Amino acid sequence: MTVFKKIINRELPAKIVYEDDKCLAFEDINPVAPTHILVIPKKEIPKLSDIEESDKELLGHLLWVIKKIAKERGLEGYRVCLNVGKEGGQHIFHLHFHLIGGRPFEWPPG
Ligand code: 5GP
Repeated sequence: MTVFKKIINRELPAKIVYEDDKCLAFEDINPVAPTHILVIPKKEIPKLSDIEESDKELLGHLLWVIKKIAKERGLEGYRVCLNVGKEGGQHIFHLHFHLIGGRPFEWPPG
């Protein structure tokens, strides 16, 4: 079981900032910016490349939640990051978006 599933199950503590029937959002344990929130589906999908057509609405919902959290926090510019697979920099194999903000970002990322 991934640590994110344990957070969903409340077997591991996390600073939860938003929850509904489809998703959970919580503070990243090792923030890279003043705001660093992870938004995850409650459904166990390891990575983006595993989604099915029936997950399209769920993925759109996650982006909608990210927009709402960013607005609540007064973030005008921010970065939304989705790492896919080991080569894509993914470490936890439960699909998650990073919402990071509160400082300027550069492109390309490292
Ligand atoms: P990835 O590298 O898979 O895209 O991102 C995983 C993120 O999960 C990292 O930013 C890491 O700091 C965060 N993380 C790893 N373990 C935990 C944990 O137990 N709790 C929380 N809140 N974040 C975690």
